[in-house]
Amino acid sequence: MKLDVDVLRYLSKEDFRVLTAVEMGMRNHEIVPSELVDRIASLKHGGTYKVLKNLLKHKLVHHDSSKYDGFRLTYLGYDFLAIKTMVNRGVFASVGRQIGVGKESDIFEVASEDGTILAMKLHRLGRVSFRAVKSKRDYLKHRRSYNWLYLSRLAALKEFSFMKALEEHGFPVPNALDCNRHCVIMSLVPGYPLVQVKELQNPEMVFERIIGLVVCLAEHGLIHCDFNEFNIMIDDDENVAMIDFPQMVSVSHRNAQMYFDRDVECIYKFFGKRFNLSFEEQADHSDSAEEDAEDSSRPCFSSINKTAGFLDKELAASGFTRKDQADMDKFIEEGSDEDAVSGDEEDASDSTEAIVRDTDALHLSEQQPEQIQEGDGADKDETRQRVAASRHE
Ligand code: ADP
Ligand code: MG
Repeated sequence: MKLDVDVLRYLSKEDFRVLTAVEMGMRNHEIVPSELVDRIASLKHGGTYKVLKNLLKHKLVHHDSSKYDGFRLTYLGYDFLAIKTMVNRGVFASVGRQIGVGKESDIFEVASEDGTILAMKLHRLGRVSFRAVKSKRDYLKHRRSYNWLYLSRLAALKEFSFMKALEEHGFPVPNALDCNRHCVIMSLVPGYPLVQVKELQNPEMVFERIIGLVVCLAEHGLIHCDFNEFNIMIDDDENVAMIDFPQMVSVSHRNAQMYFDRDVECIYKFFGKRFNLSFEEQADHSDSAEEDAEDSSRPCFSSINKTAGFLDKELAASGFTRKDQADMDKFIEEGSDEDAVSGDEEDASDSTEAIVRDTDALHLSEQQPEQIQEGDGADKDETRQRVAASRHE
């Protein structure tokens, strides 16, 4: 998705106030009635309507008058709220090129005030389902009905929390720097995704490192669940880092064994195909003559000494709760059919409050949007080297 950050420079304090009002209205309205936006924003002399027109022009909100006159945020609008908040916090100062695009995320380079290049991941969980139901519903009858704002925010919070916890346990992951709404800011990992690497000096060593990571994760009570050549980064010294954590599960998950085996299988398959590693040979040295050659060479889930509880204790401490996990699981398991998922009123306020909790764009700082500049590409390579160097220290 194109992220035209130039627009950010021209947005005023009032623009952000109204945009935030639409976000707040979306706590319980799929389409927020214009009068409600006006009431929340409380700008003088009907200023809200003029501002809404401007936001509409820049595609930050979507106008819907099928049932009543109202607005909802677009992804771009939500992006801008998160970006503005991060810029106000001083996390970064400019947005650069897009470095990744997935079904449920967009990744951009951003630069901090001192020129350090970081990675910004904007989660898009629920993107498909939102489109599918947008015309069907206006007011969220079951207030807990899942919407893309909530799901994307949860995915970001989960990713951020897991990354932080994994880093603290010495795993090679990006440095998790900040999280707001659906946006995670992390260090830029040097190197390339494994899928782009055609040759390795020492494929056996890299393979061992990667399989070692899956096992070590399980020993810490976790399974990545999307452990493949797209989510493993390799640098010039063939150091390995892993990324992309929103789908991770605990080893106590009922499908843990299957997820673990699938992660392992992906790596075996990829190294067999791309680097011609032969796993039968390794198995020749195995004591077990009866077992199938491939099976005996692979890490076995049941024989790993797993430490349960990692998820519960440390992740809850970092902000991602069991309830958040349950909500995400439900969405993933039930597919993207939002209407199929509904719940009680009490939970509703939890989840929607959580969105509002993050709505610190309401406390708009005096910083002018003009301070947001396009990333200056000139220093990027140098900065990237600096970041790379600091990772190896
Ligand atoms: P998705 O959920 O869309 O798969 P990922 O987190 O896997 O998102 O990121 C997609 C791509 O963006 C990765 O394959 C990688 O090329 C790039 N990327 C993501 N995070 C980083 C990072 N911290 N540093 C460098 N590149 C990254
Ligand atoms: Mg990925």
